Amino acid sequence: MCLFCNITKGEIPAQIIYEDKNVLAFLDVNPIAPGHTLVVPKKHSVTLTDLPDNLLEPLFSSVKRVMGMLERGVGTNHFTIGINSGRLSGQEVDHLHVHIIPRFEGDGGGSLQTVVQNSPDKDISDIKERILKANG
Ligand code: AMP
Ligand code: ZN
Repeated sequence: MCLFCNITKGEIPAQIIYEDKNVLAFLDVNPIAPGHTLVVPKKHSVTLTDLPDNLLEPLFSSVKRVMGMLERGVGTNHFTIGINSGRLSGQEVDHLHVHIIPRFEGDGGGSLQTVVQNSPDKDISDIKERILKANG
């Protein structure tokens, strides 16, 4: 069984900070900031694409709730929130998880736009046309 399924089923211990019917939130075992949290749907899904639509709201309302918990718990209301979706993005655990990374003055980190430097050589209007054409 997958690692995060094992955690949601209580087979592997984790530092759980929030749990409801659909979602579990626990501290990342290799935190890159105090309070670095992973929010996962209990239903096994690899990426957002295969998460049933009715579980999107429970997942993201839990992200919002955990932001409030962290604001009170680690003392910041600045966060980087993101999903590594697919190997090329850095996804290592194939069970959808939302990283909530509390941000602090002088923490040395950047914005999400700094994780890759691959600006297209085509105009964005060409890219828009290509996307719309591919989607009928
Ligand atoms: P990624 O798949 O790259 O988005 O990240 C997987 C994250 O899961 C990493 O930040 C790991 O530190 C974290 N992680 C791996 N195993 C555990 C575990 N047993 N408990 C909590 N976090 C974990
Ligand atoms: Zn799983």
